[in-house]
Amino acid sequence: MRRHHGTNYLYNSSFACVMDKNKLGYKRSDALQELEMLTVNAKEAQELILTKILERNQASEYLSKFMNGSTNISTFNRNVPVVTYDVVQPYIARISTGEDSSIICGDRIVELLRSSGTSRGEPRLMPAISEDLDRRTYLYSLLMPIMNKYVSGLGEGKAMYLLFVKAETLTDSGIPVRSVLTSYYKSPHFLHRKHDLYNNYTSPDEVILCPDSQQSMYCQLLCGLIERHHVLRLGAVFASAFLRSISFLEQHWRDLVNDIRIGKLNSNVTNNACRLAMVGFLALPNPELADELEEICSCGPWKGILGRLWPNVKYIEAVLTGTMAQYIPMLEFYSGGRIPLVCTMYASSESYFGVNLRPLCNPTDVSYTILPNMAYFEFIPLEDGLRVTDDEDVVENDKLVSLVDVKVGCYYELVVTTFSGLYRYRVGDVLQVTGFYNCAPQFKFICRRNVILSIDSDKTNEEDLHNSVTRAKKILEDRNYILLEYTSYADTSTVPGHYVLFWEIKSTCEGGAPLDAQLLESCCTAVEESLDYIYRRCRAHDKSVGPLEIRLVEAGAFDALMDLLVSQGSSINQYKTPRCIESGLALKVLNSKVIASFFSPRDPQWTM
Ligand code: AMP
Repeated sequence: MRRHHGTNYLYNSSFACVMDKNKLGYKRSDALQELEMLTVNAKEAQELILTKILERNQASEYLSKFMNGSTNISTFNRNVPVVTYDVVQPYIARISTGEDSSIICGDRIVELLRSSGTSRGEPRLMPAISEDLDRRTYLYSLLMPIMNKYVSGLGEGKAMYLLFVKAETLTDSGIPVRSVLTSYYKSPHFLHRKHDLYNNYTSPDEVILCPDSQQSMYCQLLCGLIERHHVLRLGAVFASAFLRSISFLEQHWRDLVNDIRIGKLNSNVTNNACRLAMVGFLALPNPELADELEEICSCGPWKGILGRLWPNVKYIEAVLTGTMAQYIPMLEFYSGGRIPLVCTMYASSESYFGVNLRPLCNPTDVSYTILPNMAYFEFIPLEDGLRVTDDEDVVENDKLVSLVDVKVGCYYELVVTTFSGLYRYRVGDVLQVTGFYNCAPQFKFICRRNVILSIDSDKTNEEDLHNSVTRAKKILEDRNYILLEYTSYADTSTVPGHYVLFWEIKSTCEGGAPLDAQLLESCCTAVEESLDYIYRRCRAHDKSVGPLEIRLVEAGAFDALMDLLVSQGSSINQYKTPRCIESGLALKVLNSKVIASFFSPRDPQWTM
């Protein structure tokens, strides 16, 4: 392995190709060469990144408390504590109400990125500076050169990527609050990208930017169907969004085919920018294409439909790791198991992290190589059972391991220090080291700490679920019932998926009123109303999560569950009812005891 002397290029040239706003393209061979240099010199790149962060931000109110004006790495290692969002939140709140960015950062905070993580039910907001877009663009710029190494001819056609923006707001001081993807799709980096063969999407930008996701989805599918013979790649950022779009297609294909047949856009699409962008696609009636599509869509079950609709497709790209792995069987159903499923990148609102250098591997074997120029990365070693220590909240500085020093096979929680004002911030992701690419470690995404239920960007932990169930069970108690036991399950066999709660209920008075549907439906609503902001947004606004279901189980169902889990090795003395069921057999046992099921009759309240 040849190490390079001098490290300035690690910082400067890695961004040079994207910092020049006039030339937002890049040379593909250069991109892979740079990746080599970055990973060979991972240690130097990390030191340089940390030094730059400290130089630029040392005068901030936050850092100066610990660094006393120093930019020394050893002072950082010794003094800057490992923190969670609770420590960051007051600074974000102050910036939101108009205080200067300099309380956490040397650069101006230009936007707050709404992460899917929540803190006390509210979304977490991550600070971002304008240069962060260059970093994100840099990571995106690596994806096609990597894919091209494994799949040929990708420049000869188009990509039908279903991309969406989410609603955004402004803080009191006028700073935009938006999701990281919305920020990217609205940025000049995306909108003024240099058009080349590899970023030829079927969806026009105006349609991607449509704030109404149903109208956007309709138009994006329409474009993809019209261009079906040119489409070489299918995808979305997350597998959940891709499947939701395919299920939407299943419901609306007749309207879409009709539009193609008569050369006119459905009047349900009312967004002006969308209508305008679609004019060119529907210039003339196309009854031949409409007949072809009608024959494919109306013919039997939709197993393998993707290959029939898009016969030249070479792969489907989406995040399929972590909680998204639950969607692999469904994707395999629609793809007929014959189209490779590809997972290319790992990223978050805090920072983008890494890329998959073996994109054609099985989705269950995906590892991400962390890019050492994205942020400064450290790792908290996790003990058996993925615990940090007995006191989960306190992490001593000397426990932290640097990027290049992690050990293959070990589990870690990811900690980042960014240019935009996060210092030793616990991201909450648990990763396992699977190997190294040059000197940069590769990680398998294991889970998000504590999350037990997730369908889309919602992430519910045990405590949130417990608090919500506790509220709802008061309704039962008022009617002389008690909730004996409960557990939960993320049901993704429906589209969109939904939360299922298994409840075992007992009457406290003989001859009491029978359990009626209205009572249990109001319990469903009460649980949903007290779940967090992101869950309620997914339900009420994004419609990416379906109504919560309570499955009432017969007396003794949880004893049967315990018998099963004890027979599988759980200790009877320490047995605790799992608050979430993942194993197929446990689910089968509970489902076999269901006596009735009830759904939430309305959306929970959600305000932007
Ligand atoms: P957000 O900040 O809302 O963008 O969410 C970021 C989180 O999504 C990460 O911290 C991970 O928990 C999860 N995530 C992002 N990319 C991946 C991936 N490729 N595989 C698994 N989980 C991911």
